[in-house]
Amino acid sequence: MPDPVDAIEVSDLPLDDLVACHECDLLMRKPALALGEKAQCPRCGYELYAHRHNVVERSLALVLAALLLYIPANFLPIMQLNLLGQSSEDTVWSGVVGLFDTGMQGVAAVVFLCSMAIPLLKLLCQLAVLLSIRWKIGRSYGLLLYRIYHHMKDWGMLEVYLMGVLVAIVKLADMASITIGLGLVCFVSLLMVQVLLEVVMSPHQIWQALSAEDDHAGD
Ligand SMILES: [Zn+2]
Repeated sequence: MPDPVDAIEVSDLPLDDLVACHECDLLMRKPALALGEKAQCPRCGYELYAHRHNVVERSLALVLAALLLYIPANFLPIMQLNLLGQSSEDTVWSGVVGLFDTGMQGVAAVVFLCSMAIPLLKLLCQLAVLLSIRWKIGRSYGLLLYRIYHHMKDWGMLEVYLMGVLVAIVKLADMASITIGLGLVCFVSLLMVQVLLEVVMSPHQIWQALSAEDDHAGD
């Protein structure tokens, strides 16, 4: 665990040697971490940063898996609904088009942005950042894209969409017969891969690799 520093010490230490907790703002001396170690805030227990093995390679594999899942998750049927002899298959995309056609253009735009456009842009940013580290090219663009990625992070709301789907399934289950589609399986897998990616792609190591002259990120 890192050492907290008091107000008098802070003025003597270079900024690079300090780290502040994201959750409780405790100021600490930055600890040197070995591979596989992680630093936790001594006050609230928040994980400050971790030094993980093969960050770039593992993250690249997860980004590619997520991109492969993206198309079936959005364009294959999430569920098939049979009600009074009528059956309909719904995909994320057909949901957006349906909202647009029924005059709810504003809602359609929000659903399109939060469930389709931003998650895709986030994945493409992550892919470009990882490739720029892997191939050691265009690190300044990589830095810019990683900053953009952090701004977009809160706007991709796949989990909110999934909650909506689950609520719909529970509410409609008594009224109609519902068959879960392959799209929902891909959608849940996409969400899981993204959660794993958040864990594996340690921001501390990515920022360090992007701003470093020589590449240590693949450690
Ligand atoms: Zn803390």
